[in-house]
Amino acid sequence: MFEKVLIANRGEIALRIHRACKELGIHTVAVHSTADANALHVRLADESVCIGPPSPKESYLNIPAIISAAEITGADAIHPGYGFLSENARFAEIVKAHSITFIGPEPEHIRVMGDKIAAKNAVRAAGLPLVPGSDGALSDLDEARNAADRIGYPVLVKAAAGGGGRGMKVAKTKDGLAEAVATAKAEAKAAFGDDSVYLEKYLARPRHIEIQIVADSHGNVVQLGERDCSLQRRHQKILEEALSPALAEKERRKIGEVARAAIAKLGYLGVGTIEFLYENGEFYFIEMNTRLQVEHPITEQVTRTDLVREQIAIAAGKKLSFRQEDVVFRGHAIECRINAEDAKTFRPSPGEITYFHAPGGPGVRFDSAIYTGYRIPPFYDSMIGKLIVYGDDRQHCIARLKRSLKEFALAGVDTTIPLFVALLEEEDFKSGDYHIHWLEQWLARP
Ligand code: ADP
Repeated sequence: MFEKVLIANRGEIALRIHRACKELGIHTVAVHSTADANALHVRLADESVCIGPPSPKESYLNIPAIISAAEITGADAIHPGYGFLSENARFAEIVKAHSITFIGPEPEHIRVMGDKIAAKNAVRAAGLPLVPGSDGALSDLDEARNAADRIGYPVLVKAAAGGGGRGMKVAKTKDGLAEAVATAKAEAKAAFGDDSVYLEKYLARPRHIEIQIVADSHGNVVQLGERDCSLQRRHQKILEEALSPALAEKERRKIGEVARAAIAKLGYLGVGTIEFLYENGEFYFIEMNTRLQVEHPITEQVTRTDLVREQIAIAAGKKLSFRQEDVVFRGHAIECRINAEDAKTFRPSPGEITYFHAPGGPGVRFDSAIYTGYRIPPFYDSMIGKLIVYGDDRQHCIARLKRSLKEFALAGVDTTIPLFVALLEEEDFKSGDYHIHWLEQWLARP
């Protein structure tokens, strides 16, 4: 096992990784920007190194500074968390070149899955079903027109280098295609420095269903069931459930096995998530995330596993601590992503948390790095914590979630808690009858 792990991240995920390391008897090194000098991940870690000014480019994305921090402290592995450098194949290679273990998949897998067109080709060959679309990147508008005619409108123009829902535009009809392609290209160029785009059939009422995968270097591949992440705003997940209220047991087993077989075929190592859209009983691959995900705890709750612990052990060459036959789903779990934002306008609300009390009791987990007196810096993501609630079944879980949200006390900044309180009262939510566009439609209601 590793002796010392450097955590190349901040916020709740840095803490989550620190906790897994401590339970494994591993020393931790935190890195931080000047804006995070008082952050909890810095206070709890065994050692810490300041790696630059507040701007992520100069700190959490600053590869030379992070590698230097690892060398100075003698860390034998680096955990990238999610976001920042977690899906940067070049970073994974540089870490390796310095004889430090990258806690994640092989750089090659990060690279292939980071390019959505290459990813689609790879998973098609591995047996996964795809959304009908263009064959790769579009070279010009004529090709886009031909592909769209073949697929049928509406179509979605997507950036090959996409992420975070950026570089995605819908064309409802032929007339809107040129503009959708032009805006998607411009957005992709600005966000990723790469303006290649491709087309997909735009699905009207799909659910977002993703399968958690974990694979070790001894040939063991296990799938841990699905998460339903259909409640989204601007293609960003807001609330997630495990398991999905929409899948029958037979469908669950089938898609899990298809995903597992594909991962085995790809020779993938570590934790990963295969994302699908699900409509009218059919699954369509959209992308694979080659890292730990924000919503991983709901899977941990229903499978009684510790994904970060497994991830670290796998990177150290150990075997998975469970086999597929050992995975039994129990109960239901829901995660609410709590952001420091106005619950109606979603305007970020950085500043000092003057009072904070977290909910607790049976089945309640709050993954966060906030405390009373903590000042939320304006430079980073506005998520301040994840409320993860477990219940014997979905109804029990929702009842617990309601009482947990009531117990929550936080003053000084606005949060999205009122949004969840209102959402839980909705009939469509209670019955589990929603799709990826539902939340936006609900938010836009008069
Ligand atoms: P990103 O990497 O930017 O997150 P994804 O391909 O994962 O992009 O898609 C993000 C979200 O966009 C999906 O969860 C879904 O809500 C929506 N989306 C993606 N592809 C389609 C599609 N073909 N039809 C309808 N919605 C889609």
